Amino acid sequence: MYKVKIEPGVKLENYLAYASLAPRFNAFHNEAVLLRKALRKKKIWMVNSTEHGGGVAEMMPRMISLLRQLGLDADWVVMETNESQFFALTKNIHNLIHGQPGAEITAEDKALYDQINRDNARQMAEYVQKDDIVVVHDPQPAGMAQELKKMIDITAIWRCHIGLDYSNDSTEAAWSFLSPYLEAYDQYVFSSPEYIPEGLSGNVTLIHPSIDPLSHKNRPLSLHKLTGILGNAGLLTSDHPTLYPDYKHKVTRLKPDGTFGPARNGEDIGLLFRPILTQVSRWDKLKGFFSLLEGFVELKRNNQENGNRSRNHNRIRNARLVLAGPDPESVADDPEGKQVLKDLVDAYVQLPDDIKKDVVILTLPMKSAKENALIVNALQRSSYVVIQNSIQEGFGLTATEAMGKRIAVLASSACGLRNQVRNHIDGRLLHHPEDPSEVASHLEYLLNNPKVVEEMSFSAEKRVLDHFLIFQQLTNWLNVFHRAQLAKEKNQPVLVG
Ligand code: UDP
Repeated sequence: MYKVKIEPGVKLENYLAYASLAPRFNAFHNEAVLLRKALRKKKIWMVNSTEHGGGVAEMMPRMISLLRQLGLDADWVVMETNESQFFALTKNIHNLIHGQPGAEITAEDKALYDQINRDNARQMAEYVQKDDIVVVHDPQPAGMAQELKKMIDITAIWRCHIGLDYSNDSTEAAWSFLSPYLEAYDQYVFSSPEYIPEGLSGNVTLIHPSIDPLSHKNRPLSLHKLTGILGNAGLLTSDHPTLYPDYKHKVTRLKPDGTFGPARNGEDIGLLFRPILTQVSRWDKLKGFFSLLEGFVELKRNNQENGNRSRNHNRIRNARLVLAGPDPESVADDPEGKQVLKDLVDAYVQLPDDIKKDVVILTLPMKSAKENALIVNALQRSSYVVIQNSIQEGFGLTATEAMGKRIAVLASSACGLRNQVRNHIDGRLLHHPEDPSEVASHLEYLLNNPKVVEEMSFSAEKRVLDHFLIFQQLTNWLNVFHRAQLAKEKNQPVLVG
């Protein structure tokens, strides 16, 4: 277990400089100051299993930094282990919670889970003090609270970012494994009511994830900054000088022979010129990469065969699909990632040459969180439409990020995504993300209707400003901490409003 160093980053007053953010920030700040006073000297600990990659790691530094700026003592710690089998097990639990078939959880698995959680809890006990609030994120470290509570009188909150809107044998297996560990918690936080497992109906609060509009991932970029980032990351081919030196770690692009090489070798991707359709995700089979790729191929084939049918034949002909994900070496808790990327490489290699040149598969360097964030920011801003074709999705920050940048989205109707994207208003929802023909017909519609896409992009931005900014999330968290404090003081069950 180790503590992550948090850079102070954006200052609270910086939000006031943006006309669209100032009123929302002020409302948040007034309430936050009252809640912080009520919380007195509580220390907040956030615990999760990875510092890089994925939505949880994404939000953590901003949450901690803003809590500190509000005057609270907050820290982020990441659990550690050398047992790769542990992450294979927790990935299996993750898949089961998403209703996917998975391996049976054995007594040996349980022993391993207990041991890693116990070891991490013991390390953490050296930092934590009586009455601290410990927020544990997701299943990997969920076993830590019962161990910590044996040693110190803390308040424990379990924050679950994943879930499914129906149950089956897989979900039941996962929840029956987790439930004894969950009993140790005083409160629970879920992203959506559909995700709350049976038996956890009390002390539950719903909190949507959200984005920080001024983080490197989301902050506005001037045209020159955007092209500068693309250039420094190796995503543009240009003879012009750049103002900043190239990034040390650059994006790699899949080459026609199935190996990865510098993204700027070969023909320019055309990020600044073509209708770019982008999906940025971890290399996870639940992200729907394969049917998206097949749908894109079908779109191109249909367009070639019925060139005159589409009003916007040219737009479809010039469109390119960008599939981007983390450098798979870098994400400790995602053992399946490498395999998914390998399968995607195999699928790409099979494509006919004329389609291959329109499919751009990128791995993004993760060594610098700032550069990674800026690259994702620039890629999303270079997109005509951002896609999130997830088969299951806890929330789907990538959709939020795109919408906040006034980019319309094509998202699957997985629970997390349909909670954000209103069909035909902020983007389009796919009902069967695994059906390439449905993907193709949505892409065709969106490419054929730039006016509709533009209208949806404005609604998308407003939707994020109104509902999915970090301000709302922080206010919700401060309320949860406050309720937990009251419950502890009165030593009675929490009544959740
Ligand atoms: N992300 C990133 N680089 C990548 C792939 C993903 O920064 O190469 C980020 C992405 O921008 C988003 C987060 O990881 O902020 C993914 O969160 P989401 O909620 O979409 O899915 P999760 O990975 O948590 O399932």
